[in-house]
Amino acid sequence: MLHGHVRPPAVTNEPNLGYAPGSPERAELERTYAALGERAIDLPMFIGGREVRTSDTVPLRSPHKHSHVLGQVHRGGPGEALAAIDAARAARDDWARAPWTTRAAVLLRAAELLATRHRATLNAATMLGQSKTAHQAEIDSACELIDFWRFNVHFMWQLLGEQPQSSPGTWNMLEARGLEGFVYAVTPFNFTAIAGNLPVAPALMGCTVVWKPAASAAFSAHFIMQILREAGLPPGVINLIHGAPQPISAAALGHRDLGGVHFTGSTGVFNSMWGSIGAGVAESRYRSYPRLVGETGGKDFILAHPSADVDALAVAIVRGGFEYQGQKCSAASRVYIPDNLWLRVRDRVLAMMAELTQGDVGDLSNFVGAVIDQPAFERISGYIAHAKGSASAKILAGGGADSSVGWFIQPTLVETTDPGFKLMVEEIFGPVVTAYVYPEEHFEDTLRLVDASSPYALTGAVFATDRHAIERALVALRHAAGNFYINDKPTGAVVGQQPFGGARASGTNDKAGGVYNLLRWMSPRTIKETLVPPIDWRYPFLGPRK
Ligand code: NAD
Repeated sequence: MLHGHVRPPAVTNEPNLGYAPGSPERAELERTYAALGERAIDLPMFIGGREVRTSDTVPLRSPHKHSHVLGQVHRGGPGEALAAIDAARAARDDWARAPWTTRAAVLLRAAELLATRHRATLNAATMLGQSKTAHQAEIDSACELIDFWRFNVHFMWQLLGEQPQSSPGTWNMLEARGLEGFVYAVTPFNFTAIAGNLPVAPALMGCTVVWKPAASAAFSAHFIMQILREAGLPPGVINLIHGAPQPISAAALGHRDLGGVHFTGSTGVFNSMWGSIGAGVAESRYRSYPRLVGETGGKDFILAHPSADVDALAVAIVRGGFEYQGQKCSAASRVYIPDNLWLRVRDRVLAMMAELTQGDVGDLSNFVGAVIDQPAFERISGYIAHAKGSASAKILAGGGADSSVGWFIQPTLVETTDPGFKLMVEEIFGPVVTAYVYPEEHFEDTLRLVDASSPYALTGAVFATDRHAIERALVALRHAAGNFYINDKPTGAVVGQQPFGGARASGTNDKAGGVYNLLRWMSPRTIKETLVPPIDWRYPFLGPRK
């Protein structure tokens, strides 16, 4: 234990590299992309510091070229889940006792390794495995993950500094204990940064973790684990397990020592986990009440006021709706445009869409890649087919899909006359934007529509130059989005700048990458020391009358 008011290094956001033609980072990324894609690798589980292989393997394929096998994923079942839980429990006491500087140093070293010698590897893995372009990988698997790891150290340090008052003769202290038991981290496919943050944030606070990544993101998960090990993460602190989610979750959620769940993914899955934990609480299954943190689905909106800037609005629709094939939880999916602007906005958007390039993300001139897998391809195609067959909608651009080489769905713009249309209210999670055109004098009614049309409340944007309209939207849409944007696209939250998360059916809104989230992984202990304890039981009011 160090004696001193130790302060972690000052923290700033990791700058994005540009990958312009001829740049050294582009050359390195292209080399690494080619090398990683050259031959299929083994993707084992990591339990108690050991690589665990099973005979139950499945090939992991590139979404934009599904004939390309990147690796063989070794899947476990309830037995491996219990082994991972045991490893986490065995590692817990030493890890929880370690000074915060020890835990912080592992993360800071991991961030530095990622910022330097492993940046190209994790970016290339994210491109190959999740079909992100170089730019989308850079802002996710490099910058956002580096930021999560560095900023969380800074936020933990701030939290530790929050100490209670002491009255004369006493000394009060607050100790940030990691949760008892283990944390079960379940991560989605769409952000490598989220996958790298969800197990690590509880670990930083002194918890030990069983981590189950999305099957389709097993490639980048493998390299995250390698970086953490190289950074010095002790065996058993984070245990990575692959396999069918239901039996693994049943083992984790059925365990007496479940201390918390750190989840990001779809609303339905989180609801079912909550239900199972609720039943467990009712039957006194757990030692403590498990902490439940879940960031879930979205149906993110852009609302334009009649005073909006048309060019800015059109760019926000294209970038917000189609970057990473619309597979960001924050992606713009429903837009509300007044009729005074619609034709100009539509034509600007269509002109940009005609220029969007789509294909293999290894070709850095492409702006969009493929959607993650066949079920996603079929689900999104189903929504497009529904729009094609509906009298209240028409496809203005895109609408095509081709699965012959990869899971490609064209960026698609739909116009509907029905604000309650299926594509306006359900999460699609693909490159499909649906627009509803409202009479310009009906801004107030449209605010109500935006607020009430969908069960979600993750992100949303208002475009206006009229300050009163912005004020109205801020008030009327107070609960419609946990991340609200004024004259900006609803995607691209930055750690330390726009803490991220939504409410209603979008999650518990514990704001990943902020103190709010870290608070959930600690169980404070208050310590009071009385410096000179009383030695007479009588209070002054019991003294003799004068
Ligand atoms: P998903 O719900 O299919 O999977 C998420 C994780 O849950 C994966 O690890 C998966 O294996 C696991 N899982 C699936 N079924 C399970 C079950 N029955 N029991 C236990 N675990 C199970 O989500 P996805 O397709 O990976 O990601 C897309 C979803 O995530 C979208 O709904 C998106 O909006 C949401 N998302 C939300 C945020 C946010 O911050 N709110 C961020 C990213 C993604």
